[in-house]
Amino acid sequence: MEWARLQALPQPLTPRDRLAIPCQEMPAQESLARAQNMQEVTLGYSDEQARVEAERCLQCRNAPCVQGCPVRIQIPQFIAALAAGNPARAIAIIRETSLLPAVCGRVCPQEMQCQAHCTVGKSLKSVDQAVAIGRLERYAADWERTHGAVSPPVVAPATGKKVAVVGSGPAGITVAADVRRAGHEVVLFEAFHKAGGVLVYGIPEFRLPKTIVQAELDALQQMGVTIRTNFVVGRTRKITDLITKDGFDAVFVGSGAGLPKFMEIEGENLVGVYSANEYLTRSNLMKAYDRERAETPIPSARRVAVLGGGNVAMDAARTALRLGAQEVHLIYRRTEVEMPARAEEVRHAKEEGVRIHVLQNAKRILGANGHVTGIECLRHELGDPDSSGRRRSMVIPDSEFQLPIEAVIVAIGNQSNPLIKQTTEGLDVDQWGRIVTDQQGHTSLPNVFAGGDIVLGTATVILAMGEGRRAAAAINEMLQQENSAGVPARHS
Ligand SMILES: Cc1cc2nc3c(=O)[nH]c(=O)nc-3n(C[C@H](O)[C@H](O)[C@H](O)COP(=O)(O)OP(=O)(O)OC[C@H]3O[C@@H](n4cnc5c(N)ncnc54)[C@H](O)[C@@H]3O)c2cc1C
Ligand code: SF4
Repeated sequence: MEWARLQALPQPLTPRDRLAIPCQEMPAQESLARAQNMQEVTLGYSDEQARVEAERCLQCRNAPCVQGCPVRIQIPQFIAALAAGNPARAIAIIRETSLLPAVCGRVCPQEMQCQAHCTVGKSLKSVDQAVAIGRLERYAADWERTHGAVSPPVVAPATGKKVAVVGSGPAGITVAADVRRAGHEVVLFEAFHKAGGVLVYGIPEFRLPKTIVQAELDALQQMGVTIRTNFVVGRTRKITDLITKDGFDAVFVGSGAGLPKFMEIEGENLVGVYSANEYLTRSNLMKAYDRERAETPIPSARRVAVLGGGNVAMDAARTALRLGAQEVHLIYRRTEVEMPARAEEVRHAKEEGVRIHVLQNAKRILGANGHVTGIECLRHELGDPDSSGRRRSMVIPDSEFQLPIEAVIVAIGNQSNPLIKQTTEGLDVDQWGRIVTDQQGHTSLPNVFAGGDIVLGTATVILAMGEGRRAAAAINEMLQQENSAGVPARHS
């Protein structure tokens, strides 16, 4: 429905009128064309579409959508501002609680969070019909950036305290901003040559343009945060050294879960087998898709198999298409219902030509002369639910079959890198290597905090941000108490 037609209806609109407004589809690049380029797939709402979509919101008094948002964005209020044609007000409301709205509007699993609770979706009996909160958040954030309206948060007068942030993903970025805002000096240490964490090295350009992440990092630097790349904490400097030798008053560890898991099957060491981490990092960070100029291009493979069913698997499969594969086979051992990937990513992958094979899994990778030549799979069926509530995947005996394949990308999950644990005496971790913290992010070591994937295991951007927010509040409180008690800064 167009905005003009909506305005011609008797005002104010009744809930019935609002429920009759169709959900606004977001324009996207044509599927076969986009599978050949790295540019963003979805193009964002027009001004008119955003206003029409915002008019679908019923402004529920109890706002169930807010309960579904991990950082409790005041959703009805920002949507009302958009309906009134005031994106500046909308983004100001969003920024009260969310630091990375252009990122979250693009990659948050809204269909499992805010939109899952939306009254409109419930009334129309489909989460796909819920108010498109994520797309509206993205619209407001993009409006802010394209209108040059982003202004870095105000920084309080210097406190003389100094905080080290390890890792520059969403958890680290959030802590750096919130702690710097309180007037503390902040140094953000990043192991890679580029800051941004998974937002830069994992999630591909066609889903999250890197200029958006860079704008957030630029804002941090404008606030006075120092970013030190190529700095591996645990190698270049230990956590305890940062406190005892370098004079940091607190350390936040947001080092993520970047260690890939493998299938542990025959043939995994053949040339042509990649972890999704390596494949995506080489493509995103080292521009491996630019075969002419990249220093570490990925050899071309016509037939690629991707093992896994999460967002990482979808990203790897869609990247393989863009790197020139003619066939990409995504192999997943359960059904699409159990797939952890966002429904939108699965749809986009299929539209682009990724072939999804469910109820199958790799048994071994076949090779000749040290290179991958194929994959042997087994068929599976679903059994009873496991401890996570998902139905178990059970092998059907003697169901082997083979596919000719030239490259295999393993995308079955990540775990935390053990380096920081191994080099930090007294830091408690659980059986999976995740740092143990309390609700505020305190670890077992004084003045050392942690949050994000290193604490949660592989989670989401918004959850990592939420963890960062809580830890930053605890750091600020601790440093304020030290200042009030006259405790001298460690570097003074
Ligand atoms: C391919 C992919 C796609 C994803 N898609 C989505 C999605 O669509 N939606 C969503 O919500 N979530 C998605 N996720 C998950 C999400 O990106 C993560 O949950 C989130 O980035 C975690 O944030 P973090 O700050 O804890 O860690 P990270 O983003 O992992 O950042 C950690 C940073 O710490 C650095 N580091 C590690 N060790 C050290 C060290 N010793 N010294 C210095 N620096 C160090 C790393 O290099 C990294 O840059 C995806 C993840 C991947 C891998
Ligand atoms: S639940 Fe849906 S309709 Fe109700 S306020 Fe939230 S976004 Fe609007």
